[in-house]
Amino acid sequence: MNKKIRKEDALYYHSKGRPGKIQVIPTKETNTQRDLSLAYSPGVAEPCLEIAANVENAYLYTAKGNLVAVISNGTAVLGLGDIGPEASKPVMEGKGLLFKIYSDIDVFDIELNTKDVDEFVRTVKILEPTFGGINLEDIKAPECFEIEARLKKELNIPVMHDDQHGTAIISAAAMLNALVLVKKNIGDIRVVVSGAGASAVSCTKLYLSLGVDPQKVAMFDTKGHVNNARTDLNEMKRQFATDVAYGSLEEAMVGADLFLGLSTADIVSKEMVISMAKDPIVLAMANPNPEIPYPDAVAAREDVIMATGRSDYPNQVNNVLGFPYIFRGALDVRATEINEEMKLAAVHALAELARKPVPDIVNLAYNETNIVFGQNYIIPKPVDPRLLTTVAPAVAKAAIATGVARKIITDWDAYEQELSN
Ligand code: NAP
Ligand code: MG
Repeated sequence: MNKKIRKEDALYYHSKGRPGKIQVIPTKETNTQRDLSLAYSPGVAEPCLEIAANVENAYLYTAKGNLVAVISNGTAVLGLGDIGPEASKPVMEGKGLLFKIYSDIDVFDIELNTKDVDEFVRTVKILEPTFGGINLEDIKAPECFEIEARLKKELNIPVMHDDQHGTAIISAAAMLNALVLVKKNIGDIRVVVSGAGASAVSCTKLYLSLGVDPQKVAMFDTKGHVNNARTDLNEMKRQFATDVAYGSLEEAMVGADLFLGLSTADIVSKEMVISMAKDPIVLAMANPNPEIPYPDAVAAREDVIMATGRSDYPNQVNNVLGFPYIFRGALDVRATEINEEMKLAAVHALAELARKPVPDIVNLAYNETNIVFGQNYIIPKPVDPRLLTTVAPAVAKAAIATGVARKIITDWDAYEQELSN
């Protein structure tokens, strides 16, 4: 655990007052008997009938359009592993809290007592009427791939497994900006990926769609390099297998331009970083401890651009930069899905935002005076209020442009104004 956070502090925080971190609050007046007659019987029958006549009216008369389900079965919780649905609840409530404070989205967290893919899919499918969107969370690989793929196909509301796509979107923005700084073309870079699980697979796929050459990617799992000579690869890993076979991570790192770590702590040495190409990019994102400690990587060479999942070093790849705003944009146009174009729109919006001058409020929050685009600032900071007004509209526009929006926004200034209120 982070040195600054003590166990007893964390437990006290969660148990004080009403246990947990989230509650339900009425949004309409409830002062008089008349209010209650409107809120419940007999008044409530009117919106019921409107919705019965056209289910789309649920977006007008209920909380559906601002309600996201954060759903887990507790099989891959943070770095804690398969700790069960009840034990995952603090994380899911935490996600609810973040959705609320960053983009005013309400969340019901749902912890399912099943590891069976069919049962999971069926359960979420029958919950669809309640929600405007589904955030799948902390479900282990490879089940998470099938669960998400099937739900995306079968549901008419946005579904996103944040561990896969959130990380991919934010790290991709970091990568694009790092490439701008080192002036390298995305199609030319040689990439080493450590990890072949949920997040590594999804990140690599997104990087390929941004222009990384599949022949220049070397992926590693616990058994070594993912290549065509191996017979133990699952379907997800097989798509990254190459004819070239590296004997070790160390060997693959020589001359590499980008290291992407989504595996485990301390498997990259200073020497490996030194062996990389000029101006190397190291995105070492194993949590809580990266593939190489931040101080070691920056001590290894001055030209390295380094990002981790940690808040105590520069360039934190933090999913909170993505999911609140991606869902905000998707919900606001009643998108039927979160498609690739919407994810790419989020990537570019995040990358562009980091290249703009930083407002005082962000400098103040970090006790800095002059945060500027460069080696130590390649992705926006989570406290940046512009995230909401930049990323959500970009996602909403991409939904409209790709024909998955059921509500069209035309006045974008008014929309941004509404978001910032
Ligand atoms: P996962 O699905 O369990 O995948 C882990 C992958 O790492 C597996 O493919 C595993 O290989 C591989 N691996 C483990 N130890 C290895 C080693 N010593 N050498 C090479 N490969 C190794 O987990 P995940 O959800 O993708 O997460 C992976 C890591 O990334 C975790 O530490 C997680 O906390 C971190 N993460 C960070 C962020 C962030 O910073 N924003 C976001 C998502 C994930 P096998 O396939 O052979 O088991
Ligand atoms: Mg997660």
